[in-house]
Amino acid sequence: MRIFDPHIHMTSRTTDDYEAMHAAGVHALVEPAFWLGQPRTSVGSFLDYFDSLIGWEPFRAAQFGIRHHCTIALNPKEANDPRCAEVLQHLPRYLPKDGVVAVGEIGYDSMTPEEDEAFAAQLQLALTHDLPALVHTPHRDKAAGVDRTLAVVKESGIAPERVVVDHLNEVTVRQVVGSGCWMGFSIYPDTKMDERRMVAVLREFGTERILVNSAADWGRSDPLKTRKTADAMLAAGFTADEVDTVLWRNPVAFYGQSGKLELEDSDAPGADATYEGNSVLRGVRAEV
Ligand SMILES: [Zn+2]
Repeated sequence: MRIFDPHIHMTSRTTDDYEAMHAAGVHALVEPAFWLGQPRTSVGSFLDYFDSLIGWEPFRAAQFGIRHHCTIALNPKEANDPRCAEVLQHLPRYLPKDGVVAVGEIGYDSMTPEEDEAFAAQLQLALTHDLPALVHTPHRDKAAGVDRTLAVVKESGIAPERVVVDHLNEVTVRQVVGSGCWMGFSIYPDTKMDERRMVAVLREFGTERILVNSAADWGRSDPLKTRKTADAMLAAGFTADEVDTVLWRNPVAFYGQSGKLELEDSDAPGADATYEGNSVLRGVRAEV
């Protein structure tokens, strides 16, 4: 079985996780830029983080035979912090980098005017840089958040098939299904969606434009939820081809729109490989 996790925060995971993921069939992933657990107090900590998403983390993933890509953005939560807003000016030099396959996570956390502004500005960046957009939906007041998200996406002029609206459930999926946007589902151990509920959604809505991820972040989460969803699909009578559509071909089709997916042979380079990214990354900084 081959699995592409389209949304997983590996920065908060261990090498044991990478090892277990590869053994479970995860051969490629996308790590969206998000918050660091505690608030960032300056733009510099965004830039160091972005550098690690395009340099260090792909190297770490490659040790375990996994292709790592990322999305870059100012996340909705930190869009409310005036110390962070300046990072928007730095995004245009990160978005063209190799391995950056979308603008994200963008969208709403508490639906403030500051979030409105950052969301709309970053959808325009997606258009300018010809990249898809990964849109986070709020965990509170979800239905209103999804409605407002779809309105902002429509107003931006970005093609809906270049947008994934993420963290949906069996209720909010109904709002998105007719929009033309992709529908993302994060599978968690004990909150939000689980694999059993995901199978029910797939039964009702089919496999088209659906992405399943493990999200796996700082909270209690499980980086093998993609594989567990695949197993639950098979147990429920879905074919191996349908599993491959949801867990591999769909994410490849969505992020492939960036023209920057690297999926050729992803075998591990071996434990003796050395990280030579720092000089490259200093080069990134030098382009300012
Ligand atoms: Zn996330």
